[in-house]
Amino acid sequence: MSMHPDIEQVLFSEDEIAAIAKRMGAQITEDYRDKNPLIVATLRGAVVFFADLARAIECPLTMDFMRVYSYGAGTKSSGTVTIDTDLRTDIEGRHVIIVEDILDSGLTLSKLLDVLRERKPASLEIAAFLVKDIEGYEPPVHPRYVGGHIPDAFVVGYGLDYAERYRNLPYLGVLKPEVYS
Ligand code: 5GP
Repeated sequence: MSMHPDIEQVLFSEDEIAAIAKRMGAQITEDYRDKNPLIVATLRGAVVFFADLARAIECPLTMDFMRVYSYGAGTKSSGTVTIDTDLRTDIEGRHVIIVEDILDSGLTLSKLLDVLRERKPASLEIAAFLVKDIEGYEPPVHPRYVGGHIPDAFVVGYGLDYAERYRNLPYLGVLKPEVYS
């Protein structure tokens, strides 16, 4: 597949992403075999990864969706989270795994976890496709499952957008800065 002209560098190819989803799926299968976990996709960025991860998990599970946002059309977290679409599932006593696309500041997830903990799930863990490594910064949440680490750059593709574009790229890449500046 040829690289989109707005992409500066590919960080994870389709094949690498497939291997990541398989590995994380196998770990979750092992840990949740008899727990009927509820896996939750955070809309919209995580849905592409969610679809791959779910198919790599080989134990019974149920799915639900949540839409929270903290970004608007820019490239930096606003630090407050708004729940736009809530779960349809009662999570009390359930083993819940939040599937997240990317952990950047971690502020979005940390606020989301506060909200969900009040609903008394039996357990609450995070599966993050990517964690951004920011020098000198310790994020407030620690995903139990991590797909990969990326440098502090703005990335798109594989579900991630810039102003709603690029979500359908099958790889993950760094956007050329001139596209958003
Ligand atoms: P945080 O609250 O951790 O700073 O941001 C979390 C959300 O911001 C992620 O779930 C993701 O949707 C979005 N985000 C963070 N970094 C990037 C990035 O590099 N590219 C894109 N497209 N979205 C990002």
